[in-house]
Amino acid sequence: MIFEDERFKQYGARCVFFDRDGGVSQEPFDCLNVSISVGDTFENVKKNMDIVKKQLNVNTVATLNQIHSDNIIEYNGTIADADGFFTTQKGVFLGIKFADCCPVIFMDIKKKIIASIHSGWRGAFLKISKKMLHIFYNLGSKNEDIIVTLGPHICGNCYEIKDDVASKFDSRFVIKKGNKQFLSLRDSIIDSLIESGLKIKNINDMQICTYENKNFFSYRRNNLSGRNIGGIFLLDN
Ligand SMILES: [Zn+2]
Repeated sequence: MIFEDERFKQYGARCVFFDRDGGVSQEPFDCLNVSISVGDTFENVKKNMDIVKKQLNVNTVATLNQIHSDNIIEYNGTIADADGFFTTQKGVFLGIKFADCCPVIFMDIKKKIIASIHSGWRGAFLKISKKMLHIFYNLGSKNEDIIVTLGPHICGNCYEIKDDVASKFDSRFVIKKGNKQFLSLRDSIIDSLIESGLKIKNINDMQICTYENKNFFSYRRNNLSGRNIGGIFLLDN
């Protein structure tokens, strides 16, 4: 099943997130797993990527070798060690693999520049989303023309963290319940965008928790798990 942020269509793009349904992988990677590194077979992942490509009707489903960094590249056809990429090419789905981490999708609606970011706590700590925003500024983008979507990710009620991670974040993003503490990836990411001047009205959260919604892969729920895919592409017309 596809979850789509419909805002993008009017600007000539589609921002979509796939859940687990519709793929060929077997347990525990059932069904639409797009990561080879989790232990699934190459053949199954290839078939799943083809299913995604066909469903979106795109030329290319691009992915990154995600390493929880703040590396961002302009899409160039290679699978780079990075956690963000951007392009102005049409028909290239900038896909992010996720299972609790947050896919953050960007578009300059005037300049037709699109970008996808992978942000777990490390990415949020490194402010990779803010870094992407500043790349947009360097390309001449204005805040009012940039829209952002936070895809499915683990929510602040479910993302339990320990002191080592909690100590890295402003206390505004750490929720304490009894002797447990939880991180709001969402609030941390949004705050990093707003502090650069992006307006909150331009930011949309799909409000899907991957940990609670069993239609999505969740690393926290099942350590041995597949990866979902989500991202953005520019339409041909
Ligand atoms: Zn949750």
